Amino acid sequence: MNALAELIAIVAPPGCVSCHTPTAAGERLCASCTRALPWLRRGCPRCALPSHRRRACPAATAAFDRAWAPMAYEGVARDLVAALKFRSALPVADLMAAHMAANLPAPLRGEAAIVPVPTVRSRRRRRGFDPAGALGEALARRLERPLVPCLERRDRSGRQVGAGRKARREAGRLLFTARDTPPLALLVDDVHTTGATLDAAARALTAAGTTVAAALSYARTL
Ligand SMILES: [Zn+2]
Ligand SMILES: [Zn+2]
Repeated sequence: MNALAELIAIVAPPGCVSCHTPTAAGERLCASCTRALPWLRRGCPRCALPSHRRRACPAATAAFDRAWAPMAYEGVARDLVAALKFRSALPVADLMAAHMAANLPAPLRGEAAIVPVPTVRSRRRRRGFDPAGALGEALARRLERPLVPCLERRDRSGRQVGAGRKARREAGRLLFTARDTPPLALLVDDVHTTGATLDAAARALTAAGTTVAAALSYARTL
C-alpha cells in the first residue's frame, strides 16, 4: 500500500476488506463475504489438509504433532490475510482471531501459551507491523492464554534465492532462535503453506524444551 492509500484507509470508512462495499461501523466484512468464508470443516489432525489425495501426510516428519486452521487459503480468507499485512488492520486481526477461537478443537483449549511465528526483522521494520504477531496477540486475548513472543527470526532470505525446497527447509531450521520459552505452546501463523516455517519454528521451541501442542494458522493452502 502506498502512502496515499494508507492515508485513505485511515481517514475514510474502509468498508468490507474483501469486496470494498460499505459496511456497518466497525464491521470488517460485509454480510455476503461473511457467508462466503471458506471454512474447513474437517482436516487431517496432523497437517490440517482436508485430504492428502492418496499421498502420505506432508507433516509426517514435522516437529509438531497437530496442525489446525479454520479456513482454506482462498477467496475471502485470502483477502483477510492480505488485509492483515497492513498496520491499519488491527480489527482484521481480531476478526480472524474470533474465527479461530470460536472453532478451536476442544483438545487444543488447554493451558498452552500462544507463541506467534515472527516476521523476518527487516520486513517488520519496513512494515512497522508483524501480522502473525498481531493475530497471536488477538488470539491470546480471546482464549485468555498468555502471549509469549519467544521466537526471533533472522533475515537470511538473501542467501536463499534460487534454493530448492529442501535447501530452504534446511536453512529455515537455522532461522529461528528461542529464548525464555513456555513449557507448552500453541504456535500461531497467518498461513500454513508447506509447513516448513511452522516446522522450523516448532523445532526451535522443542530444542529449547517446549512441548508444541499444535501449529495453528488462520488459513491452510490446499
Ligand atoms: Zn464484502
Ligand atoms: Zn495430514
